[in-house]
Amino acid sequence: MATDERMIKKLSEFGDGFKHHHENYAVSDISKIRETGGIWELDGVSFHFPEHFGFCYGVDKAIDMVFETCARFQGERIFLTDQLIHNPYINNKLTEKGVSYLKRDSQNLLICDQLRAGDKVVVSAFGTDFRDIKALREKGVTIVDSTCGAIINVWKRVEGYAKKGFITIMHGKRNHEETRATVSQAVKEGGLYITIENKTEARELALVILGQISEKEFLAKYPTASPAGFSFDTATCKMGMANQTTMLKGESLEIQDILRKAFIERYGEEATRERFRSFDTICGATQDRQDALRKLLNTKLDLVLIVGGFNSSNTTHLAEIAWNRLPIFHIEGEADILSKTQIRARNPQTSAVSVETDWFPKNLKNVGITSGASTPDVTLLEIIRKICELK
Ligand code: SF4
Repeated sequence: MATDERMIKKLSEFGDGFKHHHENYAVSDISKIRETGGIWELDGVSFHFPEHFGFCYGVDKAIDMVFETCARFQGERIFLTDQLIHNPYINNKLTEKGVSYLKRDSQNLLICDQLRAGDKVVVSAFGTDFRDIKALREKGVTIVDSTCGAIINVWKRVEGYAKKGFITIMHGKRNHEETRATVSQAVKEGGLYITIENKTEARELALVILGQISEKEFLAKYPTASPAGFSFDTATCKMGMANQTTMLKGESLEIQDILRKAFIERYGEEATRERFRSFDTICGATQDRQDALRKLLNTKLDLVLIVGGFNSSNTTHLAEIAWNRLPIFHIEGEADILSKTQIRARNPQTSAVSVETDWFPKNLKNVGITSGASTPDVTLLEIIRKICELK
């Protein structure tokens, strides 16, 4: 083993003979479209793809690492800290291979009782709480850490805030694995955090900064936004922003703006430069997929399909971008296409998953199709085949 035998962080660290495992999800026709960008004509339907879609480099790496773990340690006990990525196809494949999931306690920390020295534990692409890593090391397991490098970059920023006495203001989904792992990096360095999910919450935090709502009132309203027992004083505190890598960039920038303005209004420009830091930590792959979809939506299309897990942050944001511009449906896979008259889809505004009727356009010719960073191409192929069948 090329590195500490209890921690593997790259595919190459498995040692001689490591390999990519693209055969588990790649489709050559779709790979070609990705290389050339463009349209796939099939059975009288034109499927229009954006310039960027599907697996990002972080997910690609995580999948290679987990499948390599399964190949190398066949017959041994292999666990995952969480869903590797938010995609049912890949998660089912791993379950079929005998990979088990560790459970979490009420604090969202891993329950490691069942682990034995020598077990293999794969940390998902989202990363995990630093206390989980500590607990896993104590158990003497081999940790295969597939945390994406783009997320680790955000951790470094958060650690820096904590070391300099800044409260991390994290724009992200509180229940998302990545957000939980990221804010734990502040705690690791003895720092604190407040997670805000959207502009409404940012505006309320701005009112706290302006002294119009008390800190206590805000924390009581959002009890899971900060560590238990946390308090702060806006008269003296410093704040630094970070965001979950898959949020909408526009929303993150607006949130930064809301908070910076509140600081300036209360303390002036000069003090704000000392007391407020912001940085856009949306990852490049997420941004590319969002920009490419916006461009695709300028094409004349009869229907748009956004494909990816209903709990996938980056996919739900793609659906938000396309919403109201064309008939769009966010589906997880081919099984959601129930018939020519019924489709099971997630509404990006209400988050409700329901069966919609009369969704299949008459004279369907042009379909826009994209997928989130955790969706394998094989899922797109199944959907494309079903659409052609229905046509
Ligand atoms: S979406 Fe970005 S941060 Fe998330 S795994 Fe992919 S490359 Fe990494």
